[in-house]
Amino acid sequence: MDIVSHGLYGWALFGNKDKKQFWLAFGFGVLPDFVAFGLPFASSIAGMVFHGTPVMFSKTNIPNYVHTIYNVSHSLITWSVVFTALRIIYKKPIKASYARLLHILMDIPTHSLAFFATPFLWPLSNYRFDGIPWSDKIIFLPNIAILIIIYSIYFRKKYKKTH
Ligand SMILES: [Zn+2]
Repeated sequence: MDIVSHGLYGWALFGNKDKKQFWLAFGFGVLPDFVAFGLPFASSIAGMVFHGTPVMFSKTNIPNYVHTIYNVSHSLITWSVVFTALRIIYKKPIKASYARLLHILMDIPTHSLAFFATPFLWPLSNYRFDGIPWSDKIIFLPNIAILIIIYSIYFRKKYKKTH
């Protein structure tokens, strides 16, 4: 799924208590893609600002470190390790971190083998599911509809509370 949708699902489902929870859940929701693609995206923008031309990335010239970070950030194994560590440190489960779990679970069926299929079992296995890309209208349009429904309910509830 796209990074904005991940953040919005994280916020709506795990961060709707207060502002701190919102930013935490939104952050955990976008984290797997942000850490993997943030640096190449920033270098592309920097190229445009300082040299007038952005560094363009395609399937063939994506730096290796992006794939490495993607493996770490999109693994259910690393999620379990971090979740357990946070649980021990804070002596309770961190609800917002479920947004990262949801990110990984949503990416599994919405990425194909052609482009960043989800390495959810890394480092135990390199198996990746061959899903339907989230950019396909069969995924993209229902996703937008679901987000609109979720946020309509959310803001309606919020409006009713304050009026
Ligand atoms: Zn992702």
